[in-house]
Amino acid sequence: MLAQRPKRAELSAPIAVGRSFDVDVYIPRGASWARVLAVWDLAEEQLVWNYNIESGLGKKLPKKIVFWDETMRDGEQTPGVYFSPEEKLTIATVLSEMGVDIMDVGIPVVSKEEARGVKLIANAGLDASILAACRAVRSDVEACIACDADEVSIFIACSDLHLKYKLNMSREQVLDAAVRECEYAKAHGVGVTFVTEDTFRADFEYVVKLYNAAIDAGATRAVFSDTVRYTTPAMMEWFIAKIKGRLKPIQLSVHCHNDFGLAVANSLAALEAGVEVPHTCVNGLGERSGNAAFEELVMALEVLYGRKTGIDVSRMSEVSRLVEQLSGIPVAINKAVVGYNSFSHESGIHADGVIKMTSTYEPMQPERVGRERRFIFGKHTGSTAVEDKLKKGGVQATPEQVKAIVAMVKEAAESRSKGEQAAFIHLYREREEKRRGVSDSEFWSIARKAGLTPPPEYR
Ligand code: MN
Repeated sequence: MLAQRPKRAELSAPIAVGRSFDVDVYIPRGASWARVLAVWDLAEEQLVWNYNIESGLGKKLPKKIVFWDETMRDGEQTPGVYFSPEEKLTIATVLSEMGVDIMDVGIPVVSKEEARGVKLIANAGLDASILAACRAVRSDVEACIACDADEVSIFIACSDLHLKYKLNMSREQVLDAAVRECEYAKAHGVGVTFVTEDTFRADFEYVVKLYNAAIDAGATRAVFSDTVRYTTPAMMEWFIAKIKGRLKPIQLSVHCHNDFGLAVANSLAALEAGVEVPHTCVNGLGERSGNAAFEELVMALEVLYGRKTGIDVSRMSEVSRLVEQLSGIPVAINKAVVGYNSFSHESGIHADGVIKMTSTYEPMQPERVGRERRFIFGKHTGSTAVEDKLKKGGVQATPEQVKAIVAMVKEAAESRSKGEQAAFIHLYREREEKRRGVSDSEFWSIARKAGLTPPPEYR
């Protein structure tokens, strides 16, 4: 490789990221920081451009991005998921070691076990700030304080829809409750975050008034929640720019859901607009289609914007597997960063490119996130992948033999029965039904224990 390049003398010494086959990445001497970052991960200097950086968009990001994890709160609210206090502590320890700044570890008023979990983590001496969540209700706030949380996040709905149908409260009543509980929490020496649910479907002027009142009452961080998804990246940017000029000084945070697959995109848009604290969940867990995925947002910042997030990304795969195991929610095959396929190649054209230079068809090195590259042999396999596999196995072959192997691999893949595949999908669906909390018959037998008579079909 080196000999083929004319201007090697002008380049700095190789650094150990880039290709995994022949590590070989160079930074041109005297390159601007933007250019350095642009080539850093894409391996071939001068051959690729990264307009996320060249355009200056990267510079719009806040100096410090504060990662707020929701895996143990919103993530646990994924239907059918339950973490024991000890399991939460295991997850929290890994995330804290990875460099996550804040962790919402639960709503203590939910149950005794939930409160025990919050207390356990709050007293574990982790570097991350431990936060407990609560409604703007006195007993909820008291429960958070009793668990020794460093911070509380007091949430209340703010859209007229939620006020009328969910809370049955007036705008004034909501504002009074927010002020009262922020003041109470502040007086007890805990950090106060004020969260509005359904922020992006509420009256803008009311949202401004509510936050400014909460700020006066002691809140130092504002969380805007796209509770039932309503934002697009452009709208998020518009909203943040508009509200930033109207709020008294406060740290801004967003909580984005993924109903349209836009949670990470919306979080990035918020960061570009000046938000410092994005909420994320490992594996994108959370209500319905989940929250912004931790691994996706962090890697987008690291790779696309060339941003050093301070997160130890080499443990991404480890934390993903841990949460998969403890949540019982399998990571989707095509999930970005941590999915089985994200570093797998079958297509002849792609495998050929990746074998010659990984960055041709890979945006980042799998090793960087604690993973490995896989070549899948099937219908779309080409000769380069076969040659590479034979070579790695120490086996010499003629071009004719390689050609014959390619043909036989294709034939074998195309003639495979789909019976096993269908059985797997069936099993998976069946298991999904069972995983989803308490079954109907279990529910009615519990109701029977409470002295009720179940409907005829469950008697
Ligand atoms: Mn949520």
